Amino acid sequence: MSYTALYRKFRPDNFDDVKGQDHIVTTLTNQIKHNRIGHAYLFCGTRGTGKTTVAKILAKAVNCQHPVNGSPCGECDMCKAIQAGTSMNVIEIDAASNNGVDNIREIREEVAYRPTEGNYKVYIIDEVHMLSTGAFNALLKTLEEPPSYVIFILATTEAHKIPITILSRCQRYDFHRITIDTIAERLDELLKIEGVEAEEKAVRYVAKAGDGSMRDALSLLDQCIAFYLGQTLTYDKVLEVLGAVDTEVFSKLLRKVLQGDVTGAIRTLEDLIIGGRELGQFVGDFTWYMRNLLLVKTSENPEEAIDVSSENLKLLREESEMVDVETLMRYIRIFSDLSSQIRYSTQKRVLVEIALIKLCRPAMETNLDSVLDRLRVLEQRMDERPVQQVFVQPGATGNAGSTGIGSDGSAEAMAAAPEKAAPEDLQKIVASWKVIVGQTSGIFKQMLQKSIPKYNGQTGEPVLYIEFQDFLGKTYVDNPEAEEELKNIILAQTGKSVELKMVVAKEHNHTNLAKVTVDQALRENIHMDVVVEEDPDDAEE
Ligand SMILES: [Zn+2]
Repeated sequence: MSYTALYRKFRPDNFDDVKGQDHIVTTLTNQIKHNRIGHAYLFCGTRGTGKTTVAKILAKAVNCQHPVNGSPCGECDMCKAIQAGTSMNVIEIDAASNNGVDNIREIREEVAYRPTEGNYKVYIIDEVHMLSTGAFNALLKTLEEPPSYVIFILATTEAHKIPITILSRCQRYDFHRITIDTIAERLDELLKIEGVEAEEKAVRYVAKAGDGSMRDALSLLDQCIAFYLGQTLTYDKVLEVLGAVDTEVFSKLLRKVLQGDVTGAIRTLEDLIIGGRELGQFVGDFTWYMRNLLLVKTSENPEEAIDVSSENLKLLREESEMVDVETLMRYIRIFSDLSSQIRYSTQKRVLVEIALIKLCRPAMETNLDSVLDRLRVLEQRMDERPVQQVFVQPGATGNAGSTGIGSDGSAEAMAAAPEKAAPEDLQKIVASWKVIVGQTSGIFKQMLQKSIPKYNGQTGEPVLYIEFQDFLGKTYVDNPEAEEELKNIILAQTGKSVELKMVVAKEHNHTNLAKVTVDQALRENIHMDVVVEEDPDDAEE
């Protein structure tokens, strides 16, 4: 008996079995039930999300003699003929290899003839973005006046390559990446039918590796089953067959590196080597992983730039919170240098180890980005010292009233003099502090992000004190240019001009400085034309 690949064997033949595309299935079955079938459909989406499968089911459904709830019955002659691929009513064209004008002209000649049996001739043009310009023009003529018995289903992974003239004549359906849960559920079903035992974690890993594509997941599962035929499929076996390093390992490694834990990082590498992973592959994958992190950190819509499932994206977002852009760029530079060195080297392992040590120990390098990274390490150490200061973010809920505990002052000293409320102007500025800081740039911005806007809690004078937390901020204390820049931004943002004083927390005696803490009720009374952007950093505070 010949072996049929899982994804062929279990290809859905009715709408009910299509997984993860409910929005499309519902619309299509409704159209069929109410006989409002279109003449041109465009199915977009990444590979393996079910575009051609749905196209074939649709072709059957419109020709079926007894459709059930919009789905093909699977029993009538038409259904059977289409299923077997013998019907003349369904014509599949792969535009990748039939992309010329002549191929489309042939279609135009054919569509002149009514189907001899059934209701519709359905043309499924796969990879339609591959058509030549001439072919698109020829297709457009047919789409402009399609005979009533013709349906075109155009499928593509790259909708942006389709001319607008074609797009405007099609009903467009975007196929989503399928979630890990949905894929895992389907894999479980099929494994039961096939009588294969598998660990839940193994199934989830395969589902995850499919990265939104049911077809890829099924092919991977096929490989794993074939390798360990008749045995229980465990997580370890799956990793071994797929030769893969689990992305969890990347995340573990990155955390070790960020902690400066050389031993831990080298040990993680050793585990990979013992596990038989290929080092060149690993270097490439880890670089790619960091590239995705960087995109998540810097891009407004990372999901458009990164080709990963939403579950993976969520993990990347978590990780991106742990590392800053400069550090990440330094890591990527070291690892991309490494990937060209490692190719012809006989000492791959040593090179990877050196690179990991470089990541953990920025002090070993002397260029600018490593210096920045050294500062990061220093700052982290300062942050980790016993904290005397209680941080209260402006506007944070549940913190009405300033704690008033300065870095060099004590709570008792604060209690001595009652605080006056900050002038309204200052409150407005503080309320839009993040937006203001967001308009500065470079290191100044980084410093400001860690600064705390304060006011004099005893006099209530209209002066905004900007308290920097560490020695680096010192650079800005007597920097008229930076002060001017900030003033201008504040003026543009809030329409208020205030006096600024920049101070360093640990060096000045300003026990009477309080944080402007605007409580919720007050905030609601302040009219602001600005949108306060929520900083993702605040999510965990
Ligand atoms: Zn039927």
